[in-house]
Amino acid sequence: MDGMALGKDYATQECSIASALEVIGERWTLLVIRDAFYGVRRYNDFLVHLGIPRAVLAARLQTLTAQGILEKRRYQESPPRDEYVLTDRGIALWPTLWALGLWGREHLTGVRLRAFRHADCGTDLGRYGECPACGTVVPVPDVEVVPGPGLNQEPADPVSRALLRPKRLLQPVEVDPV
Ligand SMILES: [Zn+2]
Repeated sequence: MDGMALGKDYATQECSIASALEVIGERWTLLVIRDAFYGVRRYNDFLVHLGIPRAVLAARLQTLTAQGILEKRRYQESPPRDEYVLTDRGIALWPTLWALGLWGREHLTGVRLRAFRHADCGTDLGRYGECPACGTVVPVPDVEVVPGPGLNQEPADPVSRALLRPKRLLQPVEVDPV
């Protein structure tokens, strides 16, 4: 490393990319957000699907909630259980995730594990997240995720198994009881 390296945070940077990275740039954060788009909402579901250390997951969920990207909602009173749902501020990150996924596929992995389609007409999204057939930017809830052939068809965890079924983004994932 040279003397130009950024410090632990980017507080001295005025750039808006640096500001965004202050919020979403930590390891695991974007994968937690990705899972939230896939409809993962519960702590244990994030845990098994991501294979993330518990303490890290708890910290990321806390940060994302504090930043108004996820909203904590109680779904059960006794014992108390909360789920985490993307806010509008969080949903606004979709084009970022979309572009990052596209870049990763084209420049790193070469593998397309899931297809993303316009639910209304079944057309694969274009490279800017638009529907080429309808000529519109597809709203996030109208994006359907369809597993591709490259995806493991017999995954060990129940969330991955649930995500083998086509579903719309944001719609809660229906995890079968183990
Ligand atoms: Zn369409």
